[in-house]
Amino acid sequence: MLVTFYGVRGSIAAPGPATVKYGGNTSCVHVRLNSGENLIFDAGTGIRRLGQEMIGHDEPLLLLLSHGHWDHIQGYPFFGPIYQQDREIIVLQGVEGNASALKALLEQMDGSNFPVHSTDLPSRISTINEVEQHLSRQPYSTQRKDLNHPGGGHAYRIEEDGVTVAYITDNELDPPDKPHTTYDEWVEYCQGVDLLIHDAQYIEQDMPDKHGWGHSMISQVRQLAVDAEVKHLVMYHHDPDRTDAELDEIAIESARFFKSKNSRIGSHIAAEGLTFDLMVRKDPRVSTVDLTFS
Ligand SMILES: [Zn+2]
Ligand SMILES: [Zn+2]
Repeated sequence: MLVTFYGVRGSIAAPGPATVKYGGNTSCVHVRLNSGENLIFDAGTGIRRLGQEMIGHDEPLLLLLSHGHWDHIQGYPFFGPIYQQDREIIVLQGVEGNASALKALLEQMDGSNFPVHSTDLPSRISTINEVEQHLSRQPYSTQRKDLNHPGGGHAYRIEEDGVTVAYITDNELDPPDKPHTTYDEWVEYCQGVDLLIHDAQYIEQDMPDKHGWGHSMISQVRQLAVDAEVKHLVMYHHDPDRTDAELDEIAIESARFFKSKNSRIGSHIAAEGLTFDLMVRKDPRVSTVDLTFS
């Protein structure tokens, strides 16, 4: 399983001299499964560059939306494969019931926000409403979970050939109101995953002003990684104002935190181009997963 980050910012794209190292594009992660399937988490502005790489072939694509906020859909009109004749693209809606994520994704191509209408595209785009049914038929397993975020949304946990990845963005671990998913449920959901990608938009100084905005503090996410005994944590969905220098500092501080807990968790700051190659060791006596990243 190959996991590559194409957009790591939250809220709004933030290009500029202070975000060159980690990147300014909004949410998008590509997962290439061993089976050859392509999963794409979210369609923020990072999906544009992914599209440039995907346009060279005709493999089907499965887009899994966490929810319909701008920073998770805005790159879609610039995603090259949607303009490819007969290219198969399957879109899973992020929020069940009101289909808001899907609606937001397609309706931005309405001739007003964008010149091309979503109904005029030459690709074969299908939208899945029976999400659980669709996912249960795949050669990999997927578990969805409700996010604690204004308007709702979903996290995804994917497992293939003994390797697990959890994608949890726009999630407040300790919201002021009754959570859709409690902290203990998150610990259970993330238990032992090889790669946990979690929203880490805020720091202590952002609180209490942003309590209830649907994002977590870096310190809470690190604690979740410890409590769930994950193998690697990727702190994701950076605040648009978080500079490269501040993220470098957070990387150092996080390594220090895990060391103080005698934890061997791999600690990573999401960056555009960061890639994780996850595979189960061939030796059956060793039940760990080999991970290389670049
Ligand atoms: Zn977001
Ligand atoms: Zn959001």
